[in-house]
Amino acid sequence: MDEKALKTIVEGILRNVLAQTDGQTGAAAGHAAAAGHAEACAGGDGPIPVELSGRHVHLSEKDALALFGTSLTHARDLSQPGQFLAKERVRLIGPKGVIDNVAVLGPSRGSSQIEISKTDARILGVNAPVRQSGDIKDTPGIILASQTGIVGLEEGLIVAARHIHMSPEDARTFCVSDNDMVSVRLEGERPLILEDVLVRVHEQFRLAMHIDPDEGNSSGWNSKVSGRIVCRKQEGGHGLCSH
Ligand SMILES: [Zn+2]
Repeated sequence: MDEKALKTIVEGILRNVLAQTDGQTGAAAGHAAAAGHAEACAGGDGPIPVELSGRHVHLSEKDALALFGTSLTHARDLSQPGQFLAKERVRLIGPKGVIDNVAVLGPSRGSSQIEISKTDARILGVNAPVRQSGDIKDTPGIILASQTGIVGLEEGLIVAARHIHMSPEDARTFCVSDNDMVSVRLEGERPLILEDVLVRVHEQFRLAMHIDPDEGNSSGWNSKVSGRIVCRKQEGGHGLCSH
């Protein structure tokens, strides 16, 4: 082997080594940045209780009065403070089908909102979009009926986007902020990672992840199943998710 060939090989190796070292320096800098973000929080990945949110209706005071002639009456408290299951029930009437005995949650809200699963949407014959609670602009309507009244809603039918309720203290523990998106591994009979789970932070919230029956069944959910955050994405999509 002549000296020139040898020199070319050595230079090639050197370039590779330098490139790798640069890569490591870059990675280290990335870790330092992540550590900076983590400074104020522990970045915990402890278990989060997972609750199944069945189909339900939130009613405006006006719609509650039209359906029942009275305000909603309290049957039992729900896991989130201040929320309750009402004694009243409604029937959902869609173009293709009907669903009876649907739970009504109180207290009443500014506008009515109907939260169903994609399976329910098929039964009713409507195309309900996945939305965050409260975001009902340009959603389909539905007909609500009770024993004594009927209300035609022009909008308000959604499939609620999966989300985690947590207190500011929990948010620090998990190293997330309000409106962050995270991926959560559900440790059920059929373990599953759910992406794009919205983090909702509020003083009043008790730690719980809410999924719908379609998501629950796909993961073999039961009431003992918990979730773990496996990936965090800050608001606007930047973050540590590799996918
Ligand atoms: Zn919820």
